[in-house]
Amino acid sequence: MKAFFKNIKNIAWLCRPYWKYGKLYLILSITISVFLAPVKDIIYVFFPKEVVDLLVSGKSFQYVAIFASIICGIEFITYLIPCFFFCYFQRKSVYIDLKIKRDIYEKALRIDYKYIDNPEYYNKYAWALNEYAGQTHAARDFINNFLQYFLTITALLSIIATIGPWILLIEAVQLILHAIINVRENKIEIKKKDELIPINRRLSYFHRLFYLKEYSADLKATSLSESVFTKYENVGKSNIEIVNRYAKKTLFLGMLHESIFAITEFIIIIYLIYNITIGNIAEVGLYITMMLAFYRADSKLQGFIRLLRKANELSLNAEEIHTFFDIKSEIEIDTQKKLVPYNEVFSVELRNVGFAYENSSFALSNMNISIKPGEKLAIVGENGAGKSTFIKLLLRLYDVSNGEIIINGKPIKEYDVHALRRKIGIAFQNPNIYAMTFSENISLYNEISEIELDKISEKFGLNSILKKNNVGYDVELTREFEENGIILSGGETQKIALARIMTGDFGLLLLDEPSSALDPIAEYKMNELILSAANKTTTIMVAHRLSTTRNADRIVLIDHGEIKESGTHDELMTLHGKYYEMFTKQAENYI
Ligand code: ADP
Repeated sequence: MKAFFKNIKNIAWLCRPYWKYGKLYLILSITISVFLAPVKDIIYVFFPKEVVDLLVSGKSFQYVAIFASIICGIEFITYLIPCFFFCYFQRKSVYIDLKIKRDIYEKALRIDYKYIDNPEYYNKYAWALNEYAGQTHAARDFINNFLQYFLTITALLSIIATIGPWILLIEAVQLILHAIINVRENKIEIKKKDELIPINRRLSYFHRLFYLKEYSADLKATSLSESVFTKYENVGKSNIEIVNRYAKKTLFLGMLHESIFAITEFIIIIYLIYNITIGNIAEVGLYITMMLAFYRADSKLQGFIRLLRKANELSLNAEEIHTFFDIKSEIEIDTQKKLVPYNEVFSVELRNVGFAYENSSFALSNMNISIKPGEKLAIVGENGAGKSTFIKLLLRLYDVSNGEIIINGKPIKEYDVHALRRKIGIAFQNPNIYAMTFSENISLYNEISEIELDKISEKFGLNSILKKNNVGYDVELTREFEENGIILSGGETQKIALARIMTGDFGLLLLDEPSSALDPIAEYKMNELILSAANKTTTIMVAHRLSTTRNADRIVLIDHGEIKESGTHDELMTLHGKYYEMFTKQAENYI
């Protein structure tokens, strides 16, 4: 019983979008199906009896034909009524689907960045996106069918019960037996699902692998696909093994269900025949009604029991979708703190900052640094030293584990996180281009005038991209929405990302290897722009090529998660430490 109510609660939860976005749809669809279904069944059961009775009592052909026409007319109307609402239902259904997906996107936006690293999160997101809308419609159908079956079965059993109460008792026993088997089936289903979770996670990895651009080129260019397919086959084998193991168990229970249906049917038929032989059912019409009512009730009952099994499946799916909406975030929803950064150039201070990723041995530790407003800081270090992690902490994608980050004299956690980020311009190594026009892609953070756009395009050499393609500022930069959209190279994309942050009124610029794909001349120009005195904004730039960092006010070397060296280029060169070593190695390569 507890499980039953849990299922009902979960199904009601699945129907919430209907309640939120389509109350009228829900009420109309339930009302129509609940009121019309019993009408159809009662006509089905009583119509033959009435016709037989009228004919036996000697009524004329016209009389019986008119009666039959009226009943057929009523039946036709019961089919016609839902048709009036068909277009509305179709429209509304798509509307609800779109709203559900939007709810998922909005939730994803409020989920902390740390979850993005976790494949478990991706699965929850993908599951919600693929299943929520479908399961919501299935839950609505479930409620409709549940009420329909309930009313129809009650009506039909009350007709049959007029012969004797035994039929009700037998049906009650049958229901209890099925319910016991259902509980067992539910338990098996839950166990099976638990075993399939890691399998599905692995399978979804393959789905991404063959779809995402960054993997696709590797797969095409190398023999990687062979080992990927071997892995895929192995995961597939485990999947088949689990399904097969549970299929044997469910087959047995399914056979039990069918046996109970068959035995009950047999007992009731014998009971009906017995009642005919002892004269309890004397009229032919009544005999037909009883048989029809029984067969109708029996098939409805079988449907009802299958529906109850569906309740469990729906409930499990609801729980799975729920796990996505249950993900608890701390940073993204932290808008209680109302501090909003002013229009000023940021000062940044790290006091004893430490940070560790979940399930990783890597940690940033003892980070102490004070960055003055307008200072241009270059961060250097070997791969995996912690440079990008440092940038992500400043963007508050993660919260520090120890110490404090101070922005303009106030702890970062005291700011409204979204307002703070709006004052930070970011350019990552692999920036994204959005399905928007050229000008919209540039003014992603801030609206800019056509004159400013002209200036920026000129400054970043973006005009040549447009000229080369013979297009203007209104050209789409992907082909998602426009077939004539243009596709940019990696370097061109980086130029767009840099132009974006130069348009803004930011207090801080964070650049994580922003010019790695640029040609040397473009890179030189870019660094002039970023590190020159003309750029008044506090700027922190992670640089891979050390030649690009020479003009920074200060260079900070991070090694194994700690700040090991700090100073100007000349100071660090005289130090003869790791920076010196890295710089001379790179310089040798250039020579
Ligand atoms: P860098 O930018 O200096 O190359 P990162 O800051 O990106 O280095 O990464 C530093 C270390 O943190 C690496 O060893 C990497 O394996 C680890 N790391 C990065 N991101 C994550 C993550 N999301 N979860 C766990 N470990 C991570």
